[in-house]
Amino acid sequence: MSSPDAPRIGVGVDVHPFEDGRELWLACLPWPGETGVSGHSDGDVAAHAACDALLSAAGLGDLGSVFGVDRPEWHGASGAALLGEVVRLVTGAGFAVGNVSVQVIGNRPKVGPRRTEAQAAMSAVVGAPVSVSATTTDGLGLTGRGEGLAAIATALVIQAD
Ligand code: MG
Repeated sequence: MSSPDAPRIGVGVDVHPFEDGRELWLACLPWPGETGVSGHSDGDVAAHAACDALLSAAGLGDLGSVFGVDRPEWHGASGAALLGEVVRLVTGAGFAVGNVSVQVIGNRPKVGPRRTEAQAAMSAVVGAPVSVSATTTDGLGLTGRGEGLAAIATALVIQAD
């Protein structure tokens, strides 16, 4: 039987298709010169995956259930704004965030040159360390064909005293 104050982990995934003419937002940063993605919001897959991982870790549902039709004021909110609100909900439920790890999956943008900046931006919003890594799928699938951008995240939360 697990301890009631054992750390809890959660997972989140997000995918958005590329759309010409939109500014790309990823990991709470603008990426000038890169193709953006479609979606009601800024389509920040890293922020959205992190949100779902945190909500999952805390047992609070997911982005759809938390910011669904009954909270229209969040319609179109930025990834950073959503992530900040998720952290508020998670801490309000009695958890401290241990860390979040996000992996971006796609051909572009190249995350490496801006990894430090991306981690700093996301960590500032979460108030805990956020790691940002990236990979490709060797030309396979929707990200490999350059149709969109994906991210997967894990989060660890700890019951606060
Ligand atoms: Mg999304």
